[in-house]
Parts: sequence; structure tokens; C-alpha cells
Amino acid sequence: MRLVVDLNRCQGYAQCAFLAPDVFVMHGEEALMYDPGADETQREQIMRASAACPVQAILVDQVDLAEGALAHVG
Ligand code: SF4
Repeated sequence: MRLVVDLNRCQGYAQCAFLAPDVFVMHGEEALMYDPGADETQREQIMRASAACPVQAILVDQVDLAEGALAHVG
């Protein structure tokens, strides 16, 4: 599955790292690292993390949309 986090939007709330720790990992207080090619078996956790993100920064299977969204930042 394709996974994109809009890191311009991400505020480091770490909800995702809490809900899908195999995919999202916080490094320090604000730096988020994630697996953009996460396995399909992680989908449910990722969907939960996406729904829980306070700023809707996690986009699943919407890579074209994500690129469009990023193009509007700055
Ligand atoms: S829950 Fe959203 S804002 Fe928080 S670290 Fe994850 S992607 Fe960033």
C-alpha cells in the first residue's frame, strides 16, 4: 500500500506512532519517520492512525492527491 505523511502539516502529536508503532516512529519530540511502502497487513492500524491524526497529515492510497496538496504548501 502507498502511504504518505504530509510532513509540512504534521505537528508531531504522535497519535500515529501510538496506534501503528510498526509503521510510524517518532524520533525526538517532533521528527516523524514512517514506512511509505507499509505492508498491506498494516492497513487497519494505518487507517486508525490516519483517522486519529489531529491535522489529517496521513494519506493512504492517495499519492496523487498528496503530491497536489504538497504543491500548494508554501
Ligand atoms: S498523528 Fe499526525 S501530526 Fe501526529 S505525528 Fe502522526 S502524522 Fe504527525
